[in-house]
Amino acid sequence: MKTINDFNFNNKKALIRVDFNVPLDENFNVTDTTRIQAAKPTIIKILEDGGSAVLMSHLGRPKGVQEEFSLKHIVEKVSDIIGVQVKFVTDCVGEAVEAEVAKLNPGEVLLLENLRFYSEETKGDDAFAEKLSKLGDIYVNDAFGTAHRAHASTTIVAKFFSENKCFGKLLAKEIESIDKVLKSGEKPVTAVLGGSKVSSKITIIENILDKVDHLIIGGGMTYTFIKAQGGQIGDSICEDDKQELALEILKKAEEKGVQIHLPVDVIGADAFANDANTQIAAVNAIPDGWQGLDAGPETIKKFHEVIMQSKTILWNGPLGVFEMESFAKGTIALGESIAEATANGAFSLVGGGDSVAAVKQFGFGNKVSYVSTGGGAMLESLEGKTLPGIAAILD
Ligand code: AMP
Repeated sequence: MKTINDFNFNNKKALIRVDFNVPLDENFNVTDTTRIQAAKPTIIKILEDGGSAVLMSHLGRPKGVQEEFSLKHIVEKVSDIIGVQVKFVTDCVGEAVEAEVAKLNPGEVLLLENLRFYSEETKGDDAFAEKLSKLGDIYVNDAFGTAHRAHASTTIVAKFFSENKCFGKLLAKEIESIDKVLKSGEKPVTAVLGGSKVSSKITIIENILDKVDHLIIGGGMTYTFIKAQGGQIGDSICEDDKQELALEILKKAEEKGVQIHLPVDVIGADAFANDANTQIAAVNAIPDGWQGLDAGPETIKKFHEVIMQSKTILWNGPLGVFEMESFAKGTIALGESIAEATANGAFSLVGGGDSVAAVKQFGFGNKVSYVSTGGGAMLESLEGKTLPGIAAILD
């Protein structure tokens, strides 16, 4: 796996695909700088080598050129964070852009205009990718969030660089973290899968059954499993057509020696609302008119014990409807358990969608080993797919 550490960028121009798809408020101020901060180490290494950096990214989903999606809005914020006044060019391909790139001196940074102002970007157009390839000597992909897309700037452009292509620090860290969990993790390896639906996690479950020792299943997925086993789940969320699949998963897990842990009790609510009446119920004896919206106290204890004996932990999906304060306790407790296990030396990766939001919201971000920056890309990695953006560098 080639990373930027395998190159000396002295007097070289690095064409870097970053993910600067950041949220902006109505005055075009950046409201969350995480993605810019995440790209900084890669940019700094290149500048410190004596190279220059050409940054390319998309922002939002513009239809053609739309001023509100211009990357010019973020130039000052990127400059502040990197500590270098970033130059900006109002296009991302063509002679004018090539001229700006030619003028770049070592230590300088140029940000290109939004790649998605051209529909060729998401189409993975060859000719467009070739035009992009003229803008640097070495191609660096540091955008994990788009690594599952075969777009011009994330995948196709790589083929015009033969040997001169590599992963940036952020993307390398994402790949290493996933490998640590799915390939080289110290045992016991535990995966926690929560969230709302079995159907959206089935490919992940099937892939990780070969890789984990323990699988904790929580959140809304629980009830499909419990009903399939003959339990009474009241009005809890359930995918009736996935019951057979749930039983198959349990059988496969047993055959493979994977221990499955399901909730034993839940917080039942008489409505899907923060101020609903609640009661603790056994997971398989939820009365009609009540729905399970969070893990119960016995479940929290049981999951804690599994987490504390794990050396490698993957967490995807909340244990309850954490967006409502009344049903966030299970998710918070799980985060606390994973933080404690991490402090004791376990490796923990949080990734894919709502668990990342939960970890940030409840302040566990720096108490776990790694929080993934890519939602869809992370999910596809956990499904065992090779992401096109990653394959293009390895080719
Ligand atoms: P996912 O996108 O599949 O990871 O699902 C995340 C969503 O699942 C969150 O918005 C949670 O509110 C929701 N969720 C978790 N537990 C439950 C539950 N017991 N009932 C309904 N929704 C749930």
